Amino acid sequence: MNVKRMEELKQDLQDTVLNAYIKAEKLWDREFELPKIVWDKISGRKLGMAHQLTNRLFFRTDLLYHNPDKYLEDTTPHEVAHLITHKLFPYAKSHGREWKSVARCLGVVNPKSTSSGFQDVITTTRKSKWYDYKCVCGQCLKLSQTRVNKLKRKTRVYWCTKCETTIDTKRLFESINN
Ligand SMILES: [Zn+2]
Ligand SMILES: [Zn+2]
Repeated sequence: MNVKRMEELKQDLQDTVLNAYIKAEKLWDREFELPKIVWDKISGRKLGMAHQLTNRLFFRTDLLYHNPDKYLEDTTPHEVAHLITHKLFPYAKSHGREWKSVARCLGVVNPKSTSSGFQDVITTTRKSKWYDYKCVCGQCLKLSQTRVNKLKRKTRVYWCTKCETTIDTKRLFESINN
């Protein structure tokens, strides 16, 4: 994971949240208290979470990094819509009619209770098998089983995060300590 890129993406997400709030304040002609963003405190298979009582949004850096477009365009406004809906209609159902219309107003094209596009990341977090990769440049990487399978089937190509040469499956070792 490229740290600088990750920081940029986290900033992008904060901007996306802020813009959604600006939009909501214009649309409903009222103020909404800005939420606090919490990173990587979600367990299980959830993509994101909104906590209405404490006005907090929970997001995952792994999913943001893996599929930033989807996470910023779909998951982020999806969660913002939960907080806004709660302020506008405190008794509305979590993914009900009210939430759907708010989510659409905030740019979610097809509001749904769950969102696809992260399947391989979610599956790898459940699996425990990992591979160590030692690049010619000396960089060590960890690759999940899913990625290694794709590499072997030649359906995906991955690059070393440091020297950007393509990953050579001959230099992969099954990780010993998980
Ligand atoms: Zn939801
Ligand atoms: Zn390298």
